[in-house]
Amino acid sequence: MKHILSIYNTLSRKKEVFEPINPPHVGMYVCGPTVYGDAHLGHARPGITFDIVFRYLKHLGYKVRYVRNITDVGHLVDDADEGEDKVQKKAQLEKLEPMEVVKYFSDRYHKNMEQLNALPPSIEPTASGHIIEQIELVKKILENGYAYESEGSLYFDVEKYNKAHHYGKLSGRKIDELMQNTRELAGQEEKRNSFDFALWKKADPTHVMHWPSPWSEGYPGWHLECSAMGAKYLGETFDIHGGGMDLLFPHHESEIAQSNAATGHDPVKYWMHNNMITINGQKMGKSLNNFITLNEFFTGTHEALDRAYPPMVIRFFILQAHYRSTLDFSTDALKAAEKGMRKLFDAFRLLSGLKPAQTSSLDVKSLEEKCYEAMDDDFNTPIVIANLFELTRLINLVNDGKESLTQDDIDLTKDFFSTLLFDILGLIDEPEKDDSKLIDYLMDTILTIRGEAKARKDYATSDKIRDELAKLNIEIKDTKDGAKWNFIK
Ligand code: ZN
Repeated sequence: MKHILSIYNTLSRKKEVFEPINPPHVGMYVCGPTVYGDAHLGHARPGITFDIVFRYLKHLGYKVRYVRNITDVGHLVDDADEGEDKVQKKAQLEKLEPMEVVKYFSDRYHKNMEQLNALPPSIEPTASGHIIEQIELVKKILENGYAYESEGSLYFDVEKYNKAHHYGKLSGRKIDELMQNTRELAGQEEKRNSFDFALWKKADPTHVMHWPSPWSEGYPGWHLECSAMGAKYLGETFDIHGGGMDLLFPHHESEIAQSNAATGHDPVKYWMHNNMITINGQKMGKSLNNFITLNEFFTGTHEALDRAYPPMVIRFFILQAHYRSTLDFSTDALKAAEKGMRKLFDAFRLLSGLKPAQTSSLDVKSLEEKCYEAMDDDFNTPIVIANLFELTRLINLVNDGKESLTQDDIDLTKDFFSTLLFDILGLIDEPEKDDSKLIDYLMDTILTIRGEAKARKDYATSDKIRDELAKLNIEIKDTKDGAKWNFIK
């Protein structure tokens, strides 16, 4: 099957055929988390969206270098250039070193991503580990005349940049409108215009994380790290840059401006943005207090949840919407996702027990093609899942004897079903974590093995199993209908 992959490019606002700069190599940079709190549902979406891109590109045979950063310094509370550093604020609150906060929440983020079966990136650089690269980038921007110094801080001169380049080409923001807003704002004395953004900030005396630079003892602006680290690990122009739509402006717009100001050309060929998740129709936000962390989902400890939801349910729920669509969370939607996902797993297991026929009455190959067409069309996972539901319906019909498949078709179906379900969508068929069911299952297995030992007159083994279980307060009784077990009270 020949794959022509098309990707929606936020920059051109249309789908484009994917042609990497240096095939088979693909460079992909995704903005990672600022590590000052637990990851919530809003972090799961880019984590999973770009995991699908990573998995599918590798499936197509590309050699992908996937860089996802950790923001550990420079991201200020108001997302702009005033206010406290998010990591530092948390550190002061908890009376910790900022790097203790970073380590603690980075570890928890990694655990959550692993639970969601999101593959780790190839490189995971931190902002604090790339201060030198960031200072070098500021120097270039300054040399080229697109930055100015003010009170020891350096700002990007957006108005001047916009005369030679186009500031706003990614987000569609117009500088005239930004200008109008400017005049109404006060308290930005250091900047020429309020839309200018910090490249380097002079640290005030209360600021803990700071480094020497030619301009002041200070720290880098938030947008700078991604430009510096993207160029370092993927080159001055690379293939894919991803992130949530909330990062489009000012973060990614500023990245484009910084790179153009330093090198004279765009840093990225394809910009990809995942849409946002709403909760019962409302935006997630601090003021609404409706952030549900991933750990709260997995343990069922948030008041909006009626019980725990396994990571795979969250993953499947997210994959049921196209990454560019909004996705509304509710517990009903999660329950429906869980039910749907179990149906797919059940159908996949059924395949192994199907009786092959001489001829096939179904065309499973065309369903496979439809799934790949959907993946090739801007990673359309909901269409893939819809086709897998259709496949599930057909497998059940074959199982009921109403349709038939040859052994070759059963093998083909097993092959592409497992590739799509497990390798590309990245789902894992975990046994339901219900302890009583698990014990039943384990006891059945043990008693089957004991029965087999007895049947071949291996009484040493069958007695050993009985004695070992007795130590665990489990009693076995042999009856006419086979062995039964119960806990000794
Ligand atoms: Zn970024």
